[in-house]
Amino acid sequence: MSIFTKIVAGEIPSYKIAEDDHFFAFLDINPNAKGHTLVIPKKETNKLFDLEKEAYVGLMEFSYRVAEALEKAVPCKRIGMSVIGLEVPHVHVHLIPINVMDDMRFSKKEKLSEQEFTELASAISSNFI
Ligand code: 5GP
Repeated sequence: MSIFTKIVAGEIPSYKIAEDDHFFAFLDINPNAKGHTLVIPKKETNKLFDLEKEAYVGLMEFSYRVAEALEKAVPCKRIGMSVIGLEVPHVHVHLIPINVMDDMRFSKKEKLSEQEFTELASAISSNFI
């Protein structure tokens, strides 16, 4: 069972942004930038392109809605998107509010307090439609 499956099940806490029957969005715990969000399918699959086409399209549609909420809630130049998955073998889309190229490099990390995480999650989720 992946760490993200445990998050979906509520066995591990997360700063939740949104969910529906198939997808779940939450803040990355070690963010590149404020508002760095992960969007996952609830059903555990290792690699993005192992998803059935319907699940892939559904994930992208859900990510689109999360990105719109992110852009409204977090001041930034644009939302960057990336799929890597070398650390956690459960498909996840990184949505990152970016201002400079370094925000997409996964080397520059932002330290946030619990309160900042909570406030970000609530600001983003309140813009989710
Ligand atoms: P990747 O697999 O795409 O290389 O990176 C995995 C991402 O998941 C990283 O950005 C890392 O910070 C994030 N991550 C790993 N474990 C947890 C966790 O327990 N909770 C949350 N919210 N994010 C996590």
